[in-house]
Amino acid sequence: MNGLFERWLGGQAPLPVEQHTPATGLQLWLDDQGHVLRLAGPLRTLLPASPHHAARVHDYLQRHSWLVLEGAPADWQGQPLDLDFVTVHGTALHTRGWLLRQADGWLLQVFDIGDLLGERENHAHDLAQHHLALALGRAMRDCDEQHLLPTTTAQLQHLAEHWQAGALRLLLPGDSGWYSYASSDAVWPWADDERLRAWLHTLPAAARQLAAEHPLLQSSAAGLPLVALPYQHGHCVQAWLLCAGAPRPPTPQAQATLLPALVEPLLSRLRQQQLQQRACHLDELQQQLGAGWWSWPLQGPLAFDPALASRLGLPRDATCEQWFGRLHPADREAARMALAQLRDGIALNLNLRLLPADDLAGPRWLQWVGQLRGRQVQGFVLDISALKAQELQAGAARARLENLIASSPAVIYIQRYADGALHSDFFSASLTPLLGWPKDGELAQQPGQAVHPDDRTLWLERTRTLLRDGQVRSRYRLRDERGGYHWILDEARLLRDDLGQPVEVVGLWLDVSEATEAAERVRQSEERYRALVEDSPALICRYTPALQLLFGNRPLAELLECPPQQLGAMNLGQWMSDSQRTAFVQRLATLSPQQPLSSAEVCLQLPGRRNAWWVWAERGLFDEHGQLVEIQAVARDNTAVRHSQQQLLQAAKMATLGELATGLVHELNQPLTTMRLAVVNGLKRLESGAADVPYLTGKLQRIDNQLERAIRLVEHLRTHGRRSEVEQQVFAAWVAVLGAQGLLAEGLCGKGVTLAIEAPERCPHVLGHQDQLEQVLINLVVNARDALLERRVAHPHIRVGQRIEHGQLCLLVEDNAGGIDPRLLERIFEPFFTTKPAGVGTGLGLSVSHGIVDAMGGRLAVHNRNEGACFEVWLPIYKAN
Ligand code: ADP
Repeated sequence: MNGLFERWLGGQAPLPVEQHTPATGLQLWLDDQGHVLRLAGPLRTLLPASPHHAARVHDYLQRHSWLVLEGAPADWQGQPLDLDFVTVHGTALHTRGWLLRQADGWLLQVFDIGDLLGERENHAHDLAQHHLALALGRAMRDCDEQHLLPTTTAQLQHLAEHWQAGALRLLLPGDSGWYSYASSDAVWPWADDERLRAWLHTLPAAARQLAAEHPLLQSSAAGLPLVALPYQHGHCVQAWLLCAGAPRPPTPQAQATLLPALVEPLLSRLRQQQLQQRACHLDELQQQLGAGWWSWPLQGPLAFDPALASRLGLPRDATCEQWFGRLHPADREAARMALAQLRDGIALNLNLRLLPADDLAGPRWLQWVGQLRGRQVQGFVLDISALKAQELQAGAARARLENLIASSPAVIYIQRYADGALHSDFFSASLTPLLGWPKDGELAQQPGQAVHPDDRTLWLERTRTLLRDGQVRSRYRLRDERGGYHWILDEARLLRDDLGQPVEVVGLWLDVSEATEAAERVRQSEERYRALVEDSPALICRYTPALQLLFGNRPLAELLECPPQQLGAMNLGQWMSDSQRTAFVQRLATLSPQQPLSSAEVCLQLPGRRNAWWVWAERGLFDEHGQLVEIQAVARDNTAVRHSQQQLLQAAKMATLGELATGLVHELNQPLTTMRLAVVNGLKRLESGAADVPYLTGKLQRIDNQLERAIRLVEHLRTHGRRSEVEQQVFAAWVAVLGAQGLLAEGLCGKGVTLAIEAPERCPHVLGHQDQLEQVLINLVVNARDALLERRVAHPHIRVGQRIEHGQLCLLVEDNAGGIDPRLLERIFEPFFTTKPAGVGTGLGLSVSHGIVDAMGGRLAVHNRNEGACFEVWLPIYKAN
C-alpha cells in the first residue's frame, strides 16, 4: 500500500491527482450534477461501458452506495466516500475515495479497498474464533465430573452454531471402540450408525487420507455436505469431528484453533478419569490381595504403603531394625542379607513370616519383592498367608496320600498312553514288597511278561477292555522275582483329556492269592460235599414249610422216579396220604429256633403203589423274625426194616394163633358137637316118623345159631391173621380186649383158668391197629396163663380191666401166678428172652408187644402185685381235631 492510500485510510484527502503520479485506482470526472464526463485509471476496465450518454455516477454503483451520494457533488466533498461499484463480472468493487474540486467540475478519485475489508473481516472472525476457543476450553476444563457429557454436548452445539453446521459428532477412541458425542439430540444425518462404526473400524489406518472423501461417508451423507476433521497428535489421530450441513467447510485455521480447544481438555479429562478409575481399581485390588508398595532410598527407614502399613500393624516409616524385629527369627538373617544385596542390584524376592502385632493371631506369610531403580529400591509386599496355608494343607494332604500309597497293601500304578499302547510310568513303593520287582526293572516296564502263560489272554483282554470301555476289573496271575505266582486283582481306569483322547491309566493291584486260593478250596470242598450229598445212600433234601422241594439228591430222585432237575417242581405232600401229610405239617409247626430239630418215621406212597417208610431227621432254618423258611432233611429208607418188623409181627401173631389152636379147636368143637347132636336127634325123630315141623324148626334154628357162632370165630381168626393195614386207624381199645377174649376164653376155660373181663363204663378211642393191640393182649393173657399153669396155682385167675388216668387209657392184665422174679423184670422185654423151655417160648411176645404199644405212642409197663404180675398197656386217647 502506498502513502496515498495510507493518507486516505487516515481520513485525509489525497493530493490532487494532476500534481502526482499517473492516476491509480479509478478516476471519474463529474459535472456539477454528478454526470460522469470521463473515466480513467486501471480499475476502469472493471466497469462496464457507459450505460448511456448522460450516465450519472450512481449508475455505476450498487444500490446501497447511493445513500452515500445524496444530493449534488458539492455535498459530497470533504469526507471519505465508501462506494461499491458493480463490475462487469457482476461482483462488487469495494472502494474508498475522495471528491476533489476541479476547474470545470469534479474529480472522484477512488481506490480498491476490497483486500483491506477482507482482512478486517478475517481479523474479526479470528477474534470471534479465538474467543470461542477460549470459551470451549474453559467450559471443558471447568465443568465437574458429572457434567462432562452434557458440557461436551453443549460445546459441540456452540461449535455447530459457529460453523452454521446442522450437526456435529465427536468420535473418541476408547477401550472398547469409539465413543460418540453428538452436538444435539437431533437426528444425525447418518441414521445407520452400524455403517459408521464399520467405517470407524478402518481408522486410524485411513487417518492420513482426507476422511471426508471416504466413499461411505459421501454416499451416506443424505445430500448434506459433510466434513470429517481429524484431531491429530503426532501421527496419531486421537479424535474425529464429523461436521454435517455446514455451508462452508471449516478452514484449517478454524480446525487448528477450535478442535484442540474442545478435544484436548476433553481427552485430558477422560484420561484423568481413566487414571483415577485405574488407581481406584488398583487400590481395591491391593486391598483384596493384601498387597502394597514399599520403597527404600538405600539408607534410613523403609517406607510402606499406608494401607499396607495399617494392615500389617507397621509404622509407615519403619527403620530396618523395626522391620527385622517384626519378622520371624528364622527369616531375619535371610531378610538382612537380601536387603544388603539390593545395593548391588540383586533383586529381592523372599517369602517371610511376619509376627503378629498382638499375640493372638499366628504369623502371616508375606512375599517381599524389591528391585533397585536408580538410587532407590522399589517393590511390593504381598500377603500370601492364604496361599501358604493352602500350600501347607496340600503338602500335608500329599504327604498323607504318599504315606497311604506307600503303606497300602495294594500297588498303585500309572500307565501312560501312547500310540494305542500303555507304558508303565509309575509304581507305588508297595511294588517291591509285593512282587519283589525293582521299580525300574524290566518286569515293571513290561508287566505283561510276568503274566502266567495261562492268563495271557486275560491280560490282553484287560488292556483291550480298558482302552475301549475306560475301566476294567480283571484277575490274573503275576510272577514274582522268585518265580512264584500271585493272584492279582487289577482295577484300572482310563483318564482322558478335554478332547476325550486317552492320556493315562491309573490302576490298583491287589494281591488276592489267599482269597482266590481260599475260594478255590471252598469250591473244591463244595464239590466234595456235593458229591457226598449226591452219592450218599441217605436221602437228602431241602423243602419249604409248604413241602415244596428245593433240592433233592440223586437217591431221592431215583426213589421218587423223577429226574433230579425236576425235583424242584415237586411237592413232598404228593407222595403222602392225607393223614400223613397233616401229621407231617403239624410236626413242622412244632419246630422253633430254640428246637429246630425233629425226627419221625414217615410213610410215603411211592410210584407203583409201593409203601416206603423213611426215618426222617430234619432241621428247620429260620429268618431273623423267627419265621421258618426252609427245612433240611436227611432220611433213611426204613422200608426193609419195616417189612421185617411186619413179618416178625405176623410171625408172632401166627405163633400165638398156633398156641391158641387147642383152645380154638375146642371152641369150634362145641358148635360142631351141638350141631351134630341136633342133626342126630332130628334124624331119629324123622325115622320114628314123629318129627313134626315145630320140632324140626327148633333143631334147625339151633344148628343155625351154632353155625353163626362158628362163622364169627372163623371170621375173627381171618381178620386177626391178616397183615395189618399200613395206615393207623381209630378204634375203641376195648374192642381189642373183646377180640382177644373171643379167641382165648374157651381155651382158658378148658384149662381151668378164669378170665375175668371187667367191662368199663366208657370205651375211649385210640389210634393204631386193632389186630395189633389184640395181639398184645393175647400175648399178655397167654403169658399169664402159662405162668399160672406152670406154677400150678390153686385158683388160677386172670383179670383184664381198664383205667383212665391223666387223659391216658390203661388196659390191665393181672394174674395170681406169683409175679416175675425182680431180677428178670428189666430183661423180659428183650427180644428172645424167655424162661420157657426150648421149643415152647420164643422170647418175642413181650418184645413185639412193646414195639406195638410204642408205635401207638403208648407204653407197656409191668410190676408185681400181691398175687402175681400186672401188665399195663398205656395208650394216648385219640381226640378228633
Ligand atoms: P415167651 O413167652 O416166649 O417166653 P415172652 O417175651 O412172652 O416170651 O415172655 C418172656 C418171659 O417173661 C417169659 O418167659 C416169662 O419168664 C416172663 N413172663 C411173662 N409174663 C409173665 C407172667 N405173667 N408171670 C411170670 N412171668 C412172666
